[in-house]
Amino acid sequence: MTIAKGYSASDAKAKLQPYSFERRAPRQDDVSIDIKYCGVCHSDIHQARDEWGGSIFPMVPGHEIAGIVTAVGSKVSKFKVGDHVGVGCFVDSCTKCATRNVDLEQYMPGLVQTYNGIEADGVTPTMGGYSDHIVVKEGYVLSIPENLPLDAAAPLLCAGITLFSPLKHWKAGPGKKVAIIGLGGLGHMGVKIAHAMGADVTVLSQSLSKQEDGLRFGAASYYATNDPKTFEVLQGQFDLIINTVGASIDWNGYLNLLKVDGTMTLVGVPDAVVPPVNPFVLIGSRRNLAGSMIGSIKETQEMLDFCGKHNIVADIEIIPIQAINEAYDRVVKSDVRYRFVIDMASLA
Ligand code: NAP
Ligand code: ZN
Repeated sequence: MTIAKGYSASDAKAKLQPYSFERRAPRQDDVSIDIKYCGVCHSDIHQARDEWGGSIFPMVPGHEIAGIVTAVGSKVSKFKVGDHVGVGCFVDSCTKCATRNVDLEQYMPGLVQTYNGIEADGVTPTMGGYSDHIVVKEGYVLSIPENLPLDAAAPLLCAGITLFSPLKHWKAGPGKKVAIIGLGGLGHMGVKIAHAMGADVTVLSQSLSKQEDGLRFGAASYYATNDPKTFEVLQGQFDLIINTVGASIDWNGYLNLLKVDGTMTLVGVPDAVVPPVNPFVLIGSRRNLAGSMIGSIKETQEMLDFCGKHNIVADIEIIPIQAINEAYDRVVKSDVRYRFVIDMASLA
């Protein structure tokens, strides 16, 4: 057992504060990781503020972890001391479940979240990456390509895979028109990855204030959704729309932008009830409304290798951990370009 230093929320209304807690003694199949950086995902805020219900406190958030291996158990074969590694949204899953074999463990009931979860022993709460070190089973540790800087690679572990997985599943690529709603942490990764996959990418943002960045990330077009004309000129244009917005917005206007057989995939989790979907918007053009959650370990490694090959990382703003509460407020106001990443050296 070791003592970890980190930041935690003691309840849904509390600001995050310094916190010490126990990490388990490494087992034979464990990898011990010195956490260098951790991205700040909007899901951290939803959970620390208990916006989805059922949050476990005290909570050490953080599931975009990038660090360096400091020790490996005797049965670990994939990693060695000094390797650049990442940990994403989950640290264990039900290995008995058949779907494990088709690499969909993120959808299994036995999934153990990196934080705000309970370990396989049924009692120990998991604590995330806003901390100085972590001990994780080898099978849930990812290899970060050496050419990617650890700080800007950290957000790939959630934002990157959350967009890579649906883009791949719905076959974004040459000849496909893809729209990304919301140019935040997830959205800006979606633009970069979809562009690298060869798709024609459009950003649908609330205003044109980030247009220059969106085009720099690889978008071919950029439209403001506060302009009603956007919903007229883009009708029936897209094969795939990925909605990254974590607020309640009316999906009907966006569904109308899909071609016949097009799909709108939700990855953003609305913080309130959304207006009802008009069935005719779907029926009239055989459109699909779908959802997607992170990605499997195998697919996350595939995404990291893809990003290594294409030199894709997040655009980040580095913060000391002492600035985490202000960072949360800024994310909620969509005032982030495009991911806050905590420099864990600030904990020392
Ligand atoms: P983020 O950085 O805050 O980005 C969300 C973006 O949505 C904002 O930058 C903004 O983009 C747009 N937006 C925000 N409020 C809006 C509103 N009221 N109306 C219209 N657009 C609005 O958050 P994130 O970290 O990317 O996460 C986004 C959502 O995905 C959160 O709900 C998070 O919990 C969820 N998530 C899901 C998964 C999954 O596996 N499905 C994984 C990670 C996160 P513009 O300024 O460009 O409009
Ligand atoms: Zn996340």
